[in-house]
Amino acid sequence: MLNQVYPNIYCNQLPLPRTTLKWLNSYIIVSPDRNLIIDTGFNNEICREALFNGIKELNLDLSKTDVLMSHIHSDHAALADVLEEKGCTIYAGEKEKDLFEKMRDTSFWPNLNKLITLFGLDTNEITVQYSPGYINRLKSVPKVINPLKENDQLTYGEYVFNVIDLPGHSPGLVGLYEKKHQLCFCSDHILSTITPNITFRDFGHDSIKYFIESLQKVEKLPIKWLFTGHREILGDPKERIKELYVHHEERLKEVLKIMQTGEKTVAETASLMTWSITAKTWETFPKGQKWFACGEAGAHLEYLNNIGKLKRRVTDDVLYYSVR
Ligand SMILES: [Zn+2]
Repeated sequence: MLNQVYPNIYCNQLPLPRTTLKWLNSYIIVSPDRNLIIDTGFNNEICREALFNGIKELNLDLSKTDVLMSHIHSDHAALADVLEEKGCTIYAGEKEKDLFEKMRDTSFWPNLNKLITLFGLDTNEITVQYSPGYINRLKSVPKVINPLKENDQLTYGEYVFNVIDLPGHSPGLVGLYEKKHQLCFCSDHILSTITPNITFRDFGHDSIKYFIESLQKVEKLPIKWLFTGHREILGDPKERIKELYVHHEERLKEVLKIMQTGEKTVAETASLMTWSITAKTWETFPKGQKWFACGEAGAHLEYLNNIGKLKRRVTDDVLYYSVR
């Protein structure tokens, strides 16, 4: 479904059935010279059809169209290769480009199974094959990904966008800021009614810290419209940013309280946290959701480790945290 959200700016809602995200906001900015598509949807039939219906409705010349993959997640980037084949020029943040390049290696997805073991989940029960990101992944990584760095400018008609680095949800997530119109495209950095997934990536990679710093960066910008990656578009996001600070403060308090009862794996910690999900018990969590929950728990545990409240050890490839 295509809606004009601002002059010459359209939001193409691409359905994401069986996900809590419900749909992706893929944005299309049209101008007489070049057009821009921000994010592509999953590599599946339903997204492909919706994406190309929007392109057809706007009569876009794909040889004059750029595509920004805001970050590596499949719901944002997995049709970029299809668009490249049709003549589009592909962009991503420079850090995210490195991740996309790693995806060319066949070990990329199987390597994620190591995280499942590290979290203390059972790899007989959960593997990467259950994740929607894997199921709907890029068929092949685009041949040429043009890297963008902070403050690079992209111009489409009357809109001059500055690239802003917004690490946290993903290490190299980039947004676009339009100063004159006070518009910001922030992808999954800020969402209206759901909290963006902040996940454990590696030791020393402090996703929560980066996310909070990126929130502070957006908080400083005058914004009339915040074009988010999923769900409803927001006006001035200052209130929403405050809610997200509070959410993570409360999460950190909750995790620290759980840790008072003794050393735990990431999965054990996640199983004791509160989640807004219909599943009543940890055992009945859908497989993909268990992994997501562990990623969130791990990010908060690692943050607490980095500020000296917790310590960690790894034994037999499994990660344990305890109070310092
Ligand atoms: Zn995402």
